[in-house]
Amino acid sequence: AKNQGKHRYVFYEKTHTREAEQRLRMEQDLRRAIELDQLTLYYQPQIDLKQGKIVGVEALIRWQHPERGLIPPDQFIDLAEQIGMIRAIGDWVLKTACKQVADWQEKGVPELRMAVNISPLHFNDPSLLPAVESILEETGLSPSSLELEITENVVQTTENNIGIFQKLRDLGVRISIDDFGTGYSSLASLKSLPIDSLKIDRVFISNMFKDTNSTILLHSIVDLAHALGYLVVAEGVEQDQEVDVLRKTACDLVQGYLFSKPVPPEHIPQLATQHFMA
Ligand code: C2E
Ligand code: CA
Ligand code: CA
Ligand code: CA
Repeated sequence: AKNQGKHRYVFYEKTHTREAEQRLRMEQDLRRAIELDQLTLYYQPQIDLKQGKIVGVEALIRWQHPERGLIPPDQFIDLAEQIGMIRAIGDWVLKTACKQVADWQEKGVPELRMAVNISPLHFNDPSLLPAVESILEETGLSPSSLELEITENVVQTTENNIGIFQKLRDLGVRISIDDFGTGYSSLASLKSLPIDSLKIDRVFISNMFKDTNSTILLHSIVDLAHALGYLVVAEGVEQDQEVDVLRKTACDLVQGYLFSKPVPPEHIPQLATQHFMA
């Protein structure tokens, strides 16, 4: 038994070392990912339920790693935050996404609204506002075509946060609350924030048929959001039956695999001509 314990110890130690090595290598690779042009954006359509056509897209980052292939954001955004790279990545995302709208326009696509995810760290960084300002200037994108998605849990309504929201809003940029319903904030606490839209988290959408209370809750969220003047986006829509309910609740936009997975930019012009609903 004594022996076994010793072996186990050695085994753990080796695993830890391997993990640490792997993390270190990831870190070194990530630091060079921008200059080596390994980051890429996919875009997921947002469809207007009334018109049945694409009115916007959400930019979703991927890392094209030479050995590991396409790495999803859940596997490197945390690391980017920890090693102080999220600002550089966030600026790259903003610039690339805003330029993309103009590229599509040249291919005959009407100006789409571009939603970009902003990390809480970047949101609280004083560099964000001037960066957004200069990217808008540089790309010529209408400020109202840019929407910044901030997750619900960042929305602690501190004076500082409200100030950042207000200044971004003054530029004409839209602000959206992401993953709504997963954190602790209520619509009541959001009402003091200058925001434009609310994205209802996938968990709410996929649970909508669990019991009648889920549907009632969904209805009241949409009603309240509308009463506060917000546009409502449902994310993670995967089934036709979900769309029926969302239509009844007068939800404005839908996004999810049912319509399209996130796709590389060259797929968007074709999707933009498509009619999505009968
Ligand atoms: P999110 O902002 O909540 O994005 C939605 C995620 O759900 C995306 O995963 C998307 O591909 C996925 N999704 C969309 N429709 C469906 C559906 O119908 N069913 C299911 N099961 N999933 C669906 P993805 O692209 O892996 O992104 C994960 C998270 O990484 C994002 O969650 C966001 O928090 C973060 N992220 C992505 N891009 C960026 C970025 O450029 N900057 C920052 N800071 N974070 C990003
Ligand atoms: Ca998002
Ligand atoms: Ca979300
Ligand atoms: Ca999320």
